[in-house]
Amino acid sequence: MENVVAINNLAQAVPSGRLVEKEEEIKKELVVGRDMRASCFEITEPDPNDDLTGDKEAQMASLFARYKKTLINRTNHHLGYPYNLDFDYGDLAQLQHFSINNLGDPFIESNYGLHSRQFEVGVLDWFARLWEIQKDEYWGYVTNCGTEGNLHGILVGRELFPNGILYASKESHYSVFKAARMYRMECVKVGTLVSGEIDCANFKAKLLANKEKPAIINVNIGTTVKGAVDDLDLVIKTLEESGFTRDRFYIHCDGALFGLMMPFIKRAPKVTFKKPIGSVSVSGHKFVGCPMPCGIQITRLEHINTLSRNVEYLASRDATIMGSRNGHAPIFLWYTISRKGCKGFQKEVQKCLRNAQYLRDCLRFAGISAMHNDLSSTVVFERPLDEDFVHKWQLACEGNIAHIVVMPNVTIKKINVFLNELLQKRSNWYQNGKINSPCIAADIGPQNCACTLHY
Ligand SMILES: *Cc1c(COP(=O)(O)O)cnc(C)c1O
Repeated sequence: MENVVAINNLAQAVPSGRLVEKEEEIKKELVVGRDMRASCFEITEPDPNDDLTGDKEAQMASLFARYKKTLINRTNHHLGYPYNLDFDYGDLAQLQHFSINNLGDPFIESNYGLHSRQFEVGVLDWFARLWEIQKDEYWGYVTNCGTEGNLHGILVGRELFPNGILYASKESHYSVFKAARMYRMECVKVGTLVSGEIDCANFKAKLLANKEKPAIINVNIGTTVKGAVDDLDLVIKTLEESGFTRDRFYIHCDGALFGLMMPFIKRAPKVTFKKPIGSVSVSGHKFVGCPMPCGIQITRLEHINTLSRNVEYLASRDATIMGSRNGHAPIFLWYTISRKGCKGFQKEVQKCLRNAQYLRDCLRFAGISAMHNDLSSTVVFERPLDEDFVHKWQLACEGNIAHIVVMPNVTIKKINVFLNELLQKRSNWYQNGKINSPCIAADIGPQNCACTLHY
């Protein structure tokens, strides 16, 4: 099969910068984004005449008008990252004039009066109900992002088990491995199935090899690249079978992506504090949709006392990762959750899954390798050969594969526009079938691969 395009050739067609990363002894060539230094908006010092001429003001206004146009265009062509770009927070514009900051503990008012704890605790209570933990048994906060939730959850686990080993599947988000580096924790990477789920046979072998140390486990409720959901029940069973009693393990659930979708899928396994888990985190700007990054972290109240310190300067308690905390974010979350409610989220989840299915089917029908995990709205497919195309549609790529995450703003119409363009481009890349598309069976399984060998 000499005319199968080797994936190494892919990068050669790429004009932008390259980075060679050494990871696990394998040299990989990564395509990195464009260098921003040439296109930055330089800040110029105000001129004494500016007030008179109004030139600077006019320049700035025109710059913002152009920037807004770019944002609209980029919003219309966004498919790759799991951000719901469909929202309207017009009612909240009036709050922009205030420096709202929830520094300290959400449940203990600090001396700084411009805070939004009323909204924050409302949001947290809602999530506590969703993940089935009593009001007086949980603690949590609105974070800056899903990463902060992971950093916090893993820290809680580390404080409980200072010599514990962190276990995470190799398809876990990079923030999990960052946490291990930051906290200097021993970290064991666990293998995955083709679907992207944690491989519990491999997990068991690794647990048995480290029986003397407690286990801190990151469980993925939707992996970043394939949208795979780790089988929480099987993880717990594997721990028990390997001789880890409940006082010797801590589970953090990284639900950044699907933490808010899974509860609304009937056939999905349940994430609940009725199971022996320690914490769950989710990103607020992903499925919910929010103009600023944010997230939610919920853990058990009993765990937080080991972690927190009272701070006189705040008149509050320090149990969060960050100091100052965005006080606007909880209001935005409160607003959307109040307006949509569980029914609204459920409808949107169903729509996303349907549209993801549609996208997967269309790709396969067109002879393009594609995979879609049942519980997810992420569609994985062959990496487009043209980096400009990837850039235009803001596709997230890793190795030989790319993905689209179907969020509520990704409509059938948008999918169709994308598909038409992809098919057109593809006929050039592969010269109307004269060149075969690459085999990606190793990434998505032979049954999903449309290369000449597997089709
Ligand atoms: C996006 C994501 C994160 C990180 O969330 P941020 O809000 O971007 O910090 C963590 N885990 C998973 C699985 C994700 O998809």
